[in-house]
Amino acid sequence: MTASPKFFVMLGPPASGKGTQGRLFAEERGFNYLSTGSQLRREIEESSPIGQRAKRYLEHHQYVPDDLIIELVTDWLEKQEGGWLLDGFPRSVPQAKALLEIVTGELITLDLQVPADELSRRVSIRRECPECGSVATNVRDTCERCGGKLESRADDSKEGFQERYKVYRELTLPALDYLRSLSRVVEIDGVGSREEVAIRIKEALR
Ligand code: ADP
Repeated sequence: MTASPKFFVMLGPPASGKGTQGRLFAEERGFNYLSTGSQLRREIEESSPIGQRAKRYLEHHQYVPDDLIIELVTDWLEKQEGGWLLDGFPRSVPQAKALLEIVTGELITLDLQVPADELSRRVSIRRECPECGSVATNVRDTCERCGGKLESRADDSKEGFQERYKVYRELTLPALDYLRSLSRVVEIDGVGSREEVAIRIKEALR
């Protein structure tokens, strides 16, 4: 019997539901979970050395430099035991190369696919919990998961979304092609309710 895969990546354009589905998936399987975007926002909030270096890139809707994010993820991976899911990493070909060099078992990438008009609609209504990183697109003011106060993300303006979507197409689509050439990438239709998409992920991995 082959061991079931323990190493996962969740990728997709801004507002595709990476965070929601990634967290759900990791919780269900008892995996460790890292969202590089949420972690960077926390580092910026705390004004840590990484946060200070990353701040201007997030403010300008650009990716942070590869060496910075590779260091952050490598440090995190070194501390993990058991399965994990990375949400939002790797997002460029150099990041994908770095990850494939580190991983010692089968890596599966879940590629959440959502059309641009639906992404732009979601960005205009979504809010995030600064405490635990959960994302909501309903009318509640508090986080369903931890009770924190939900806030709009500073980079979730219409212009911010357009810029991040452009960077995604320029840098992350080639990274997906690279991952596809060397590992397993599973495409998931990301349109629908949280539950519907979660079921599609489960079925795709059967
Ligand atoms: P989104 O996918 O909606 O842009 P994230 O929370 O995943 O949101 O990421 C927010 C921001 O954090 C990105 O726009 C980028 O500036 C930075 N970031 C996150 N992950 C990476 C990464 N792997 N490489 C470079 N920058 C990253």
